[in-house]
Amino acid sequence: METKLNKLCDESWKNLKDIIVFGYGRYGRRALSYLKKDFNIIAIIDNDIQKRDQIVDGVKVINFNDALEIIYKYNIIVTVQGFYYQEICKQLEDAGLVEHINFTTWIQFFTEWYYKYKRMICVEKTDIPITSFCSLNCKNCSVFTPYIKKKKHEKIDDIRKSVDLFFEKVDKVLDMNLYGGEPFLHPQLCEIIDILANYRDRIGYLGIITNGTIIPDEKVIDALKRYNIGISISDYTKSIDYADKLEELCRVLEYHKISITRTKNMVWFDLGFPPVKIKYNESSAKKHMEYCNMACHDLIGSKIYYCIADRAAQMEGLIAPDGKSYINLMEVDKNDLEARKEILELCAGNVEGGYLEFCKICGGYGHDNQSIIPAARQKY
Ligand code: SF4
Repeated sequence: METKLNKLCDESWKNLKDIIVFGYGRYGRRALSYLKKDFNIIAIIDNDIQKRDQIVDGVKVINFNDALEIIYKYNIIVTVQGFYYQEICKQLEDAGLVEHINFTTWIQFFTEWYYKYKRMICVEKTDIPITSFCSLNCKNCSVFTPYIKKKKHEKIDDIRKSVDLFFEKVDKVLDMNLYGGEPFLHPQLCEIIDILANYRDRIGYLGIITNGTIIPDEKVIDALKRYNIGISISDYTKSIDYADKLEELCRVLEYHKISITRTKNMVWFDLGFPPVKIKYNESSAKKHMEYCNMACHDLIGSKIYYCIADRAAQMEGLIAPDGKSYINLMEVDKNDLEARKEILELCAGNVEGGYLEFCKICGGYGHDNQSIIPAARQKY
């Protein structure tokens, strides 16, 4: 397979020092905290007028029109994904800029630039599913939780083996989250956090993704504080009546100065599965997977899966196993940079044929999925 780590042209990227960051949302903030260590940030562009003129670490947030004077002078790292990236890509191309010469995605940059010019294996994002138990029962759950017949908490020893194996082969991960189901339901969450704490200096943002229905106990709160773990709350109070509980959780976390990212007014993409309702053929599935541009990869057992939805569907027996959708870390030689590079290739979506088998029946997260639905509709 041809590498996906040769998109950035040396002439414009090799000796990079000054950059513009486009997008100051959740991913933008995390990317920025890493980028500012290695690069001079000239400006942050965001299309949201409400963010205009905010000062972030001494750098001003400006709107696209205000940036027209500088976008031709500096390379741009775009920190949004999927559908939103395609919109920004068009905006930049309409202004005469060229993808991978003048601008690129944050994921492409992080994986390719650090590999090519620093000889490091840096994965942008890998999450760890720790339980399939959940306090909600969302019909369109991205990991099909309501359709899992035998729910379980992942075992501590299995998680330890996975994490040790991962950091034997990967130098850094920028963004790593524990999720479920509902991760605060795992009775050994503190032990899981302790396992990750061994590698805390190699993880940029370490977080837990919760629906905000559970208040963690004091032991967990202490561990969150000790290891600087952020909480991403998916706020479904528009569809489900639990606002009091969620506000209480926010109060507890704020009191303990634990970082919260709370996403309100969420909408979801309907993946159209299960049962099978969508069909892409072999020639259209490749483009479909490209549009989806999946950024959430899972670490479970000895494997990293490219796509969380595909991983869940396979593991729960909803679809047939697909050998090209993961990399088995046991088979990667830790002393061989080229072998370790295969991890980056997988995370960049470089799979045989250009698509996963599941992409043929999954709506995905790209602009070709027009089925936008209210978040967290419950399955009764
Ligand atoms: S389209 Fe493919 S990559 Fe995207 S969510 Fe579906 S299975 Fe995953």
